[in-house]
Amino acid sequence: MNPIVAKLPLIRRPFYQRDVARQKCERALQERDAALCERDAALRERDAALRERDARILEQSRSVPSADMSSGTTKRLICVLCQNRVDSWLPFDLTPSDFRIRLGTIGSNPNRFSCPSCGAIDRERHLCLFLERLRLMEPVRGGSVLHIAPEPRFREYVTSFDLGTYFQGDLSPAHESIQRVDMQQMAFLDASFDMVICNHSLEHVDDVTAAIREMCRVLKPGGRAVCQTPYAARLSTTFEDPLLQSPADRLFFYGQEDHVRQFGADIEQRLRDGGLRGRLVPHEEILPDIDPVAYGVNEKEPFFDFVRD
Ligand SMILES: [Zn+2]
Repeated sequence: MNPIVAKLPLIRRPFYQRDVARQKCERALQERDAALCERDAALRERDAALRERDARILEQSRSVPSADMSSGTTKRLICVLCQNRVDSWLPFDLTPSDFRIRLGTIGSNPNRFSCPSCGAIDRERHLCLFLERLRLMEPVRGGSVLHIAPEPRFREYVTSFDLGTYFQGDLSPAHESIQRVDMQQMAFLDASFDMVICNHSLEHVDDVTAAIREMCRVLKPGGRAVCQTPYAARLSTTFEDPLLQSPADRLFFYGQEDHVRQFGADIEQRLRDGGLRGRLVPHEEILPDIDPVAYGVNEKEPFFDFVRD
């Protein structure tokens, strides 16, 4: 046999393999495109549901003259974040489960939820009042702040303090200005920040012990952890169960479909065990002159006053 002909199969084979690989790659791309189409359809569906919910809340707020009547007269309500006077706060469209009512869970006040002018919600307004009264943002001027799951209105307040570094992080970033950050394992060096803000975020994290430890690690000594979270003072130990993690169970037991636990009174100690120093300070101790109705906040929600040791 001609030696050149004898070698032909060997020469052609790599081309054949390349074709197979290309076909495989094309198939994978087609599959990925189909998955993306499916995801887009799901997102469109979710957006439509959210628009429907917002429309319902707006409609409800119109039909309720004011959720904040006192002695028969309507109070003058003011949003501390946008400084606008409003007629009423928009309620949150969710009735707590019997389980949570029985526990007396402390979190948002659903009747004084969002500001109709700027959209800020009660826990952002409350936090702003706490930080202002205690003047806790002043020492952070020119410093570094990590803001987890940043709330748009509260972000404006925080960044008005001329920070040196402001880093926004979220496990599922919804905007290009926000980086992906997993609180359980953060890529920052030790002692990187003067303040870490994770307002109502710890109840979403799978391993909260790791998240608290990480928060402490990335804080400078004396740095502040702003870590408000819903909890039930009547529950001595935080409640979470691996068998109660379906959306319906989470809603019933933990208050929201993406919460993974119900913190109890041990939240204070858990934060200390993670390396923070501090306590829960009642509203009336810091803001005795602030009318919770007029400012649209939950007077039962304390301030989580914690710094790194
Ligand atoms: Zn407002």
